[in-house]
Amino acid sequence: MYSGKGLLVVVSGPSGSGKDTVVHSLISKHPEIRISVSFTTRGMRPHEKEGVDYYFLTMEEFNRLLANGDILEYTEYSGNYYGTPRSEVDKRLEAGETVVLVIETNGAQNIKKLFPDAMTVFLMPPSIDILKERLYNRHTETQAQVANRLRIAEKELALAPRYDYCVVNDQVEKCADEIFELINKVKQR
Ligand code: 5GP
Repeated sequence: MYSGKGLLVVVSGPSGSGKDTVVHSLISKHPEIRISVSFTTRGMRPHEKEGVDYYFLTMEEFNRLLANGDILEYTEYSGNYYGTPRSEVDKRLEAGETVVLVIETNGAQNIKKLFPDAMTVFLMPPSIDILKERLYNRHTETQAQVANRLRIAEKELALAPRYDYCVVNDQVEKCADEIFELINKVKQR
């Protein structure tokens, strides 16, 4: 049930499912929807920007924020840590805004426990072959890292039925529109 305050939307999907592209398309069309920028200890990829894609931290900085209670949920993924900043999310929800978290499946489960009203969406790649192709072609990870991401992807895909909604990303714009419609549907409840 949607309680009328801000709406928390969780978008998960395996690495290579295109979730970042879809969510960026969603917020570029609907700037009133806010995206939460996570903390990570992963190294910055060439096209990424500090404070836009992530807040890039050392392990020490991450641990300090964690100890201070500044991280709402976090997980270890493929050797790096990722966490959702607490204050930003709390502030936006309090202001009645819609906040999107693009996080993996452990984080999604933890958020659902903390925020039972959160709406969860799982983004499916059109096929495993397309997922593999996207991961290998983007050249941002080593072969070993891609193989590890594919192993994680298999486990994540098995969790799709636990989400409120599943959307197939065969076309970015269409997929973003579908998520927007789902958000409106949940808000009208
Ligand atoms: P990537 O290294 O590809 O940017 O992210 C790896 C995975 O971590 C993706 O599934 C991404 O959605 C997830 N992720 C990013 N930020 C967070 C976060 O704050 N919390 C959790 N639990 N997962 C995150």
